Formats: sequence, structure tokens, C-alpha cells
Amino acid sequence: MRLSSRLRHTSATLGLVAIATLVPSAPAHAQVRTADPAARGIPLSAFPRFVKLADNVYGYEEIRQPGFTTVSLVVIGRNGVLVADAQGSVEATRTMLERIRTLTPLPVKWYVVGSDHGDHTAGNSELPKDITYIVHPTSFAQLKRDSAAATGGRVVVVPPRAMTGTEETIDVGGTTVKVLFLGRAHTGGDLMVQLPRERLLFMSEAYLNRVFPAMRSAYPSEWAKTIDAALAVPNVTRYIPGHGFIEEAAVSREELVTFRDAITRVIAEVKRLKGLGLTVDDAIKQANWGDLGGWFLASQQGPIAVRRVWAELDGTLK
Ligand SMILES: [Zn+2]
Repeated sequence: MRLSSRLRHTSATLGLVAIATLVPSAPAHAQVRTADPAARGIPLSAFPRFVKLADNVYGYEEIRQPGFTTVSLVVIGRNGVLVADAQGSVEATRTMLERIRTLTPLPVKWYVVGSDHGDHTAGNSELPKDITYIVHPTSFAQLKRDSAAATGGRVVVVPPRAMTGTEETIDVGGTTVKVLFLGRAHTGGDLMVQLPRERLLFMSEAYLNRVFPAMRSAYPSEWAKTIDAALAVPNVTRYIPGHGFIEEAAVSREELVTFRDAITRVIAEVKRLKGLGLTVDDAIKQANWGDLGGWFLASQQGPIAVRRVWAELDGTLK
């Protein structure tokens, strides 16, 4: 991508690559705020990798095209392993399961569908057949539709049943895991995973760290409110994204606020363009995202966001 290569070039020029490499836990202000591994001085050969979040709790960062991370959550209990979100292909999810086996011999017993999108679920046929799924009814229905539409040998795994209610607690053995539905966001069936004792909240695709708000199936204004609800969950200090880098605690909250603001900025820009009396196609041409235009996926997702916000403003989004 043109913009990200410019970013890389600028960062290298400023010597930020060296800073990021030599001081991995640098103070908050020193961390390069980007989803671009090169700009942070991390070679693609470093992926996939685990980021330890607490005893027996790991984030798993794997690179997807066009070059940012997809994040899975791994919680190892006495009774087995819980995974929230997998990866975007059979091969990538198989690799993740192999890597988990380097951490523990225990089987993967629970799977939380944080996002039903293919970049997190397309490899789910690799998961153990007797695994327990936790899935929101909206994502359950979407996976059923995707499974019915799947062609060319592609397999979309449909869990046996959807969760009832908006919260579920799982005792994986020694660690309490809470699955939360805090409102519609990126897919409508967005689930998050809270570890109360570890003060962690895995937000799946409701939190895209420095990746342009991807709105193909999103509920734009509700998404911003859902992030506010996440920020209001008590005793959380670290927020884990579904894409982009896992940050240290303080930065993770700052970046979540930045992402919430990115959503409200996108909404405000579309409102402005609509207020000028433009057609949606002209609005797409004239959209000015400011610095968000340099985030991953901006050129691809900008037009999609315009159409989605437009539909919400027209009241045609259900
Ligand atoms: Zn995704």
C-alpha cells in the first residue's frame, strides 16, 4: 500500500525502528502508534507470536494481508484451553493450534466467536469436533448463512447453538472467563472476553487498533456506544484488539479511545457530506478522513463506511 510504505520510509528516516526494537516496553509516549509492523521495527518473520498478558493468558498475533495482525486470545485453565477468535485460513488456524501445544498439552475445549467474519473463522474446521462454542445469536445466524453459501470445498463451521442472554461465565479451571455482549459494533454479534482477575478485556473486532473502521456489517453509531460500554467495564486496565497490535495497558486504553473517536469522525464526515446534498458516490469521492486516511485499509474501507453510515442516517440499517 502506498500510504503504509510512505509511513515505513518516514519511520526509518526518523530512527523510530531502532527505538521500537531496543525498548520493547518503552514508556507510553515512546511507542509508535501504528498497526504497521515495519514502522514499529518488528520484522514479519517475528510472526506468529504470543504476547503474554498474565499467567496462562496470551494474545496470539499473526499477520494477514495487507500486513497487519489478526489477534486471537488464548486462556489456559486446569480443565483445558479457551480460544477467542481463530485465524483466517485452515493453515493459519492449524499453525495457531500447533503453537498452543507448545504452551500446554491440555486440549482446546472452548471457542468464543468474537467475530463471525472469515478472517477469524475460516479455519475453524481445524478445531476439535467436541469443542464448546460460545456465539451470539446474530453471529450464529450469519455463520449458518455463510455455511449454506460456501462453495469450492470451503467449510464454514456452524456451532450447534447460540448463547442466550448477554453474559456467560466459563470456569476453565483456576481462571474465570466472562463472555460479554455489550452492544452491536463491527458485526452485530460482537462478543468480548473479560478476565476480571487479570483485568483484561479482549474486544475482538470491536477494537481495530489503527486500522480504519471497517463497516461492511457494522452499526456505526452503536459501535461507538459499545466501545464506551467497554471503557466503562469496571476494573479493566488492558484492552486487546482483534486487529492491530496488543499494547501495554495505558496505551491500550488511549488507543481504544482514539479508535472510538475514529468511528465518530467517520460518522461526522459522512454527515457533513450528506448535508452538502451530495450523492453517495460523490460523497465517496470527496471524503476527507484526515490522518485516518493513513491507517490500514483506508482506501478500501472508506467507501464502504460512507455507504454504511449513509444507510444508518437514512434509517435503512436494521
Ligand atoms: Zn477481521
